[in-house]
Amino acid sequence: MAKDIKENCGLFGIFGDAEAVQKVYFGLYSLQHRGQESAGIASSNGEFMQCYKGMGMVSRVFRRGSGLLEKLANPIAIGHVRYSTTGSSKAVNSQPLMSEYSRGQVAVAHNGNLINAALLRDEYEAYGSIFKSTSDTEVIIHLLAKPTHVSKPDPLAHVLNHLQGAYCLLFLFTDRIEAARDPCGIRPLCIGRTEKGGYVIASESCALDMIGAKFIREVEPGEIVTLDKSGLSSRFFVKPGIVTPAHCIFEHIYFAKQNSTIFGENVHEFRKKLGRQLAIEQPADADVVIPIPDSGTSAAVGYAEQSRLPFDMGLVRSHYVGRTFISPDQKLRELEVKLKLAVVKETVGGKSVVVVDDSIVRGTTTKGKIRTLRQAGAKQIHMRVSCPPLRFPCFYGVDFPTKEELLANNRDFEQIKEFLEVDSVGYMSLEGMLSCAVLPAQSYCTACWNGKYRIPVDIPVNKFSMEHHQKHMFDDLPQTNE
Ligand code: SF4
Repeated sequence: MAKDIKENCGLFGIFGDAEAVQKVYFGLYSLQHRGQESAGIASSNGEFMQCYKGMGMVSRVFRRGSGLLEKLANPIAIGHVRYSTTGSSKAVNSQPLMSEYSRGQVAVAHNGNLINAALLRDEYEAYGSIFKSTSDTEVIIHLLAKPTHVSKPDPLAHVLNHLQGAYCLLFLFTDRIEAARDPCGIRPLCIGRTEKGGYVIASESCALDMIGAKFIREVEPGEIVTLDKSGLSSRFFVKPGIVTPAHCIFEHIYFAKQNSTIFGENVHEFRKKLGRQLAIEQPADADVVIPIPDSGTSAAVGYAEQSRLPFDMGLVRSHYVGRTFISPDQKLRELEVKLKLAVVKETVGGKSVVVVDDSIVRGTTTKGKIRTLRQAGAKQIHMRVSCPPLRFPCFYGVDFPTKEELLANNRDFEQIKEFLEVDSVGYMSLEGMLSCAVLPAQSYCTACWNGKYRIPVDIPVNKFSMEHHQKHMFDDLPQTNE
């Protein structure tokens, strides 16, 4: 796919490790697929905090030889990589967001989307609160600092109960890290243990593997996990009966890395199962199965296994292409597709080809890839998609195009086939997709396929929901150092 849908964000935190900041750096590196717009690290020596963040990938923000990691070196640290889902892509919105309030310093890193952030912000602004960013995350700091909340027996639990939507959060206080996951557990968050006995929290288990930490368990929906000098402790901020899991199954289909375990299951294995199920539901009379790399690769392996067709690489992705700019005409757009994905003529020439991808969003990039396969001599092209047709936007932390822009909105399969210029098109059924998962079907969010939003969305939110508040204030700023 499907870069038309952008990942959300990645979190990594570690307590009580002499190399905490270095480990956060490597942890963020392995979570880079979750967000490439900005990166940041906040650390504490037990008394004071520091934070550095900036625009771009981890390797750009924390350049080798910059000395930044050495300056931040402290035994408690959290980090964040961001793709903006609320608040535009500007330095002022990069995270962790660090602030000082009546209880001292705090830094917050967030993965998800708060659907009531604009309402809360309006409420606070009406009482004179001043916001520095247009990100939904800043609202949490204002909630935390409110005097009537500070005086509660468990201020953090009290604050979390005001939030609606998807959130995995890391809070760095000078003496501890607190990690929280929303009561639906929409985004993944897990706990690991280092060889030296320290604790780590990360969005995906691939980041634990990266630093040699062992996966212990996931943070439960509605749970707060505290890492401090006594070790790890846990409490719930909602009653167990209120916890109704709605894990984002799109994490399994597209966002998460193949070597991660999320929602109780390895991502690559899950995608292979999808591929097998797809071959059962949507067989094709063909010579070879090829994936759209890299997102369709695991499903294509499963499809080939089940259908007993050979698996081969018909498209090869270039790993060295940076961002290309909006191309003004069709010819240049086709060149752009070729730049990113090259065809292996020997694999597809004169053959009937099954092309497997994880999803189709707008369909324009898929159409470009199909054209390059035709130009390379593919005789027949059968498009197979390992999830159902996407028809609804996401309000829980994924930046979707509008409903009208989605290929499957108001188009039947025949029209999709014509648009893509393929010989046949076959999507996975919703039931088939859910049958591949280890948890019961009702444990997953499937709103972008069936429009059933588990957390009601009264006012649809998007990336720019809070922009009107500070339209003129933030043009592209240089990197920030707090
Ligand atoms: S709407 Fe789709 S992308 Fe968004 S949380 Fe639900 S399953 Fe995930």
